[in-house]
Amino acid sequence: MKPEIKIGVSSCLLGNPVRYDGGHKHDRYITDTLGKYFQFVPVCPEVECGLPIPREAMRLVGDIENPSLLTSRSNKDYTEQMQQFCARRVEELEKENLCGFIFKKDSPSSGLFRVKVYQNSGQPPLKRGRGLFASAMVERFPQLPMEEEGRLHDPLIRENFLEHVFSYRRWRDFLEDQPDYKKLITFHTRQKLLIMAHSPQHYLLLGKLVASGKKHSKEQLLQDYEIKYMDALSNFSSIKKHTNVMQHIMGYFKDRITPDEKQELLELIWNYKDALVPLMVPLTLINHYVRKYNIAYLQKQVYLTPHPAELMLRNHV
Ligand code: SF4
Repeated sequence: MKPEIKIGVSSCLLGNPVRYDGGHKHDRYITDTLGKYFQFVPVCPEVECGLPIPREAMRLVGDIENPSLLTSRSNKDYTEQMQQFCARRVEELEKENLCGFIFKKDSPSSGLFRVKVYQNSGQPPLKRGRGLFASAMVERFPQLPMEEEGRLHDPLIRENFLEHVFSYRRWRDFLEDQPDYKKLITFHTRQKLLIMAHSPQHYLLLGKLVASGKKHSKEQLLQDYEIKYMDALSNFSSIKKHTNVMQHIMGYFKDRITPDEKQELLELIWNYKDALVPLMVPLTLINHYVRKYNIAYLQKQVYLTPHPAELMLRNHV
């Protein structure tokens, strides 16, 4: 059965031989691990805008905010051709209902962060640019979780990106289910601890927004909620934030667990805080107590199971 969550991926990362030299940059983590959970929508801007394989390598040149896309040796300008393609392709991708995008790093078309922009002055290139297709995607889909494949090898970045993707999917599922004010309260209640783990400020902001929800039209409320919710998830969680959430969770146990159980859990939370054990360790015990003591509010919290355990996103120290 095909996984239902769609994410866009730079085509060469899937092993497709679309690079300028006829090669690919197959990333096995993407295809072999993420492929079990996501349906990929491949995009190769250079080939899809009409360039051949093989072709001359390209680079960005000029203004860092508005660079030109030129071939590296012959300086042929493909900026307009690429921009026309980008305008068309982002419209098509709107219909795909993507929940995220993984870009190939360093590419003048697909790179998301720190792409080299060569200077007409002959000064060394500035590593602050963005590929033209990646720019068009950021502009068209400002809430869409996006990352580069190289950065996904960092376990913290990987955890945050994928948590963001699954959260976006939950939001889209909510929108497709005839949302109303009551359903928004239910949705928000379930996400509360996850939001707190990413941004305590957004936890307060979203709480206030939902509490005053009846003062807004439904459309305005949902639009504001989406922007703030996705902003919240774009903040990285951290040991400090997770520790804060777990201490908050302990408040729900305090009259139920025995002194020994409390001590055991506290020790695991401190071990996590000291980076001696991964987040998974105290959370496993928390999940055990949630089941054992049947704590309804916590049973519904997405924070305790925000993504498939098999992805092992919370197993790093
Ligand atoms: S980096 Fe982007 S443009 Fe280059 S081959 Fe890969 S998908 Fe195509």
